[in-house]
Amino acid sequence: MAWDFSTDPDFQQQLDWMAQFVRAEIWPLETLVEDLDQAALDRIYEPLQQEVKERGLWAAHLDPELGGQGFGQLKLGLMHEILGTSPFAPNAFGCQAPDSGNSEILALAGTNEQKERWLHPLLAGDLKSAFSMTEPNSAGSDPTQLKTRAVRDGDEYVISGHKWFSSNASIADFLIVMAVTDPEARPHQRATMFIVPVDTPGVNILRDVATMEHPRDEFGKLGGHAEIIYEDVRIPAENRLGGEGEGFLISQQRLYPGRIHHCMRWLGVAHRAFDMLCERATYRESHGKTLGEHQTIQNWIADSAAEMQAARLLTLHAAWKMDADGVAAARQDISLIKFYGARVLHDVIDRALQAHGSLGYSTDLPLEAMYRFARAARIYDGPDEVHRQSVARQILRGYAPPPGEVPTEHVPTRRAAARERFADLLEAVTSNE
Ligand SMILES: Cc1cc2nc3c(=O)[nH]c(=O)nc-3n(C[C@H](O)[C@H](O)[C@H](O)COP(=O)(O)OP(=O)(O)OC[C@H]3O[C@@H](n4cnc5c(N)ncnc54)[C@H](O)[C@@H]3O)c2cc1C
Repeated sequence: MAWDFSTDPDFQQQLDWMAQFVRAEIWPLETLVEDLDQAALDRIYEPLQQEVKERGLWAAHLDPELGGQGFGQLKLGLMHEILGTSPFAPNAFGCQAPDSGNSEILALAGTNEQKERWLHPLLAGDLKSAFSMTEPNSAGSDPTQLKTRAVRDGDEYVISGHKWFSSNASIADFLIVMAVTDPEARPHQRATMFIVPVDTPGVNILRDVATMEHPRDEFGKLGGHAEIIYEDVRIPAENRLGGEGEGFLISQQRLYPGRIHHCMRWLGVAHRAFDMLCERATYRESHGKTLGEHQTIQNWIADSAAEMQAARLLTLHAAWKMDADGVAAARQDISLIKFYGARVLHDVIDRALQAHGSLGYSTDLPLEAMYRFARAARIYDGPDEVHRQSVARQILRGYAPPPGEVPTEHVPTRRAAARERFADLLEAVTSNE
């Protein structure tokens, strides 16, 4: 009977070390980041990354032969719960999005030469990458409609198109670009992935799009979302990842682990907001008692605790399933946690913000930034609606219309069947009376 919720004591020690390291070394960075450019930030990260490497916690998402730790998704989930408490923590541990997902693509689909040239330096932290799929002029939630084209020309491909929300592209060394190679093929076999160095002529990074999360115009900073025009970008054919038409197949392998990593990090963000909610409840007095003595606030605390626990178990269960049975087997579990986790994240932050009143709304606390961050969680890596649709469709495959369209639980029908089945017994009972 294996049904175990405990953490291996050695690994728990690592988690304890991570929790104090992130709080002591990373959280303070958050308050300075506005004043630092990317080069200064990289200098600050360097000794922190060294410490993480010495501790054996660097690039935990990949197998040891690729320079990672081979921890698997479950341990990674427990790690990300801690790293998620700060947007700056994953970078110190070599497992930040989008580099972590991109390294998974390169590990999965890259040739030995591509791994040597791009993957190893990416894992070592010497290169940065971005994933460039979404376009302003086609629905990102249905990427079979992609418009960006890659046309073979001798030993080269020529890429033309318009992308946006390519996270970190303005600080990246290379982009993984999804482009249509055969518009006549079946929808999921039209696109192919390519490695495109950012300094290739024709790669025009126009701007980092200002967003709810980063409302001011900025360029060239960690976490920016770039808009890019690819104008007759010529790349050698050996920069193609996998075969022509395999873009969707490969991207699914990247997106499933990438999605669950987001959900794991959200647990950390939600917990940080929850701690703020509870702390506030202990001292702020209103109408003759502390907030924690008002039933509404008590409900918020209890509801948040229950929802966070549910999200945590759903996330860790999906991770466990990926480890046990592979990425495809966990598809439904990942969709479930993607939309459920995004809602829990939002609701817990919303309550914590509300409990802090005007202070919560101000930039004197990180809650307003968390709130803006949480809103995006319902959109990226598949909007809520698409995940719900996918879950419902998979569930409905297990159901069929009942005979004669009479509901299986229809009481009069069941009663008639039960009367028939127990006719002897009923007759005996009746005749005894
Ligand atoms: C913070 C952030 C980071 C991102 N990073 C990247 C990145 O690094 N690389 C990259 O390529 N992309 C990235 N994206 C883009 C993201 O993946 C897309 O925004 C997402 O796939 C949705 O595509 P869209 O914006 O074109 O919205 P659309 O596809 O136009 O969808 C708009 C809305 O339509 C509704 N909708 C769509 N389909 C359905 C349906 N089947 N049923 C019901 N309603 C539906 C939903 O409400 C959805 O939100 C990022 C986005 C954000 C916000």
